[in-house]
Amino acid sequence: MQANELGEVPVLMYHRILVKPISDLDRTPAQLTAELERLAREGYVPVTAAEYVAGRMDLPAGAHPVVLTFDDGSASQFGYDPHGNVRPDTAVGILLDVARRHPGFRPVATFFVNADPFALGTRGGDAVRWLVGRGFEIANHTTHHLDLAGMSKSRVQREIGTDQRMVLDLGGGEASTFAFPFGALSHLAWARRGSAGGATWNFGGMFLAGWKPADSPFLRGFDPQLIPRIRSDGKTKKYGCNQFCSKAWLDWLDKNPGKRYTSDGDPRVISFPVAKAGFLGKNFQAIGRTY
Ligand SMILES: [Zn+2]
Repeated sequence: MQANELGEVPVLMYHRILVKPISDLDRTPAQLTAELERLAREGYVPVTAAEYVAGRMDLPAGAHPVVLTFDDGSASQFGYDPHGNVRPDTAVGILLDVARRHPGFRPVATFFVNADPFALGTRGGDAVRWLVGRGFEIANHTTHHLDLAGMSKSRVQREIGTDQRMVLDLGGGEASTFAFPFGALSHLAWARRGSAGGATWNFGGMFLAGWKPADSPFLRGFDPQLIPRIRSDGKTKKYGCNQFCSKAWLDWLDKNPGKRYTSDGDPRVISFPVAKAGFLGKNFQAIGRTY
């Protein structure tokens, strides 16, 4: 077992899960199932965005963390069938199904939501509480999903504060992570913490769209405010997916196991090869262990 808790962590970005995709960002249920099956087979274990940024990753020895993030809170991500059960064709239904077939593959994910999560109207609170009760994370993606660039500080903060307030009112607790609308970085300092719209927040992690795996939270220089996410897609020419989307990066991590975060199985210590000794973050020096 080659533990490397300073290795890279794929943070995957999904949008809608649709049998007939509408936008280039959508994936089909079959594609999501195949990607989750692959992750399970290759020893990945999902953690939430909040767990990842806080370094709360209590995984078995040899396992690799992966963060599954779903943006915009669409109906394709979570919903009920007429009997009140989780719809099997939603992201959550698919994740639960894969986890049933792969013991140890924790069915958790982070949902960056806007107004009316999962388009469930008055049942939104039931959904949010059900998800949070099972370890899923409901996080902030602003109320109206507008481009923050060009907005005043008070408008940026109202967009975030009202979303924060909504998640609280639905029983989701304090959202501790944030994803920029359109994945586009703007007004980082205004977005990171504030008080507006009936809520106060101070995000522990801020997520962008991106093109590469993210750093270990234990790495020196880890920046929790600029976390890149990998778009879920196959190797195609579109958007340079042959190099920068999920299939390409999972292939790369598979071929470069020394670059990947691999757990030592002990959450009390951070283990890594001695060659990386200079790269441990200052706050973790006391619990670092080289071999
Ligand atoms: Zn979005």
